[in-house]
Amino acid sequence: MNALPSIRGCLVALAMACLAGCASPPPAMQVVPLPVLPQGPVDMRVAYAVNPRLPRMDAAQLQLLLASMGEAVRQNFGIELRFSPVTEVPIASLFATIPARRRDDAARDSYDFKSGRGDRARLDKAFTEGFRSSGESMEAMRAFALPHTGPIAPGDTAFGARIAALQLERVALWSSRQALDGGPAIDNTPFNEFPMWLALGFGDVPYELVLTNQLIAGVELTWPAVHTAVRGGYSNGITTYSRLARYGTVSVWSTYAFGSNDAQLVQLRGGESYTPHEAARLAGLSGAHEIGHQLLHLLHPYGQAACLMHPVEMLAYRDWASKLSPRDCPVGSSPAMTPGVYKFEY
Ligand SMILES: [Zn+2]
Repeated sequence: MNALPSIRGCLVALAMACLAGCASPPPAMQVVPLPVLPQGPVDMRVAYAVNPRLPRMDAAQLQLLLASMGEAVRQNFGIELRFSPVTEVPIASLFATIPARRRDDAARDSYDFKSGRGDRARLDKAFTEGFRSSGESMEAMRAFALPHTGPIAPGDTAFGARIAALQLERVALWSSRQALDGGPAIDNTPFNEFPMWLALGFGDVPYELVLTNQLIAGVELTWPAVHTAVRGGYSNGITTYSRLARYGTVSVWSTYAFGSNDAQLVQLRGGESYTPHEAARLAGLSGAHEIGHQLLHLLHPYGQAACLMHPVEMLAYRDWASKLSPRDCPVGSSPAMTPGVYKFEY
């Protein structure tokens, strides 16, 4: 479990029950077995979970996205995917299938940054303790954060509080974005909350791939990560336990950050603007990363830019894609690229 925070900021997540405020000890964890893949194509049931308040990709873009994802999975992992037709589902009806207990747990894990009534002292403490027990080097985390925070006073408490403040400042940039109806992109629904997406796998989600136009960004009381904080709690994707998925996990991939070229997004992309065509192509290529988590249980080979499993820098997907070289990062070429290295517990 100690390895979790280093990947929490990126795209894999354990499904966890009852991390905050448990009344009783959590049940023993089980581990999703490494998939035994069929000869021939691997079938993927695909949904597009649509929040009608937010911009979305059209059918042609979704087809381009899937073609690009399939090509990337073939080139990088030697696996042939066969996608079902895309089932469009309203995001609300998908979330309605999350069992009440899981929903409550997820709500408890989410810090209420929307109402202004969140308990800041509790958040600071959660971040401090989370970093302390992360098993990661405090020096390395401070060095990573420095360009974003400036110097921070010594001590774990000051660090935890400063990173919590950074994530709150930056999630405010996400929540101040406008929806199509002119209201805030992040409203009172829980669709933006990362723990809710973890809980979704306990609902009725008979898909291997859930594309969504939802903006997923928030602040959690569990598993803080500096990488997450600098992005304002933004996640582009998640691969997590799923009760009904063929191989035991579902990959979620958001098209939201690819969809427009406003100042905030372009800045997060290091200046990149995308045409609708390139947006769909890059969304598919980068979403293929999640398939590496799902089908091969791979991790992140940090510092190896040739690898599809190397996480993107902020949201600069064109730059990230330009450095990929499947030939230079075959499956099995490093510990992070070894099938089964990641354990999906649930
Ligand atoms: Zn990842």
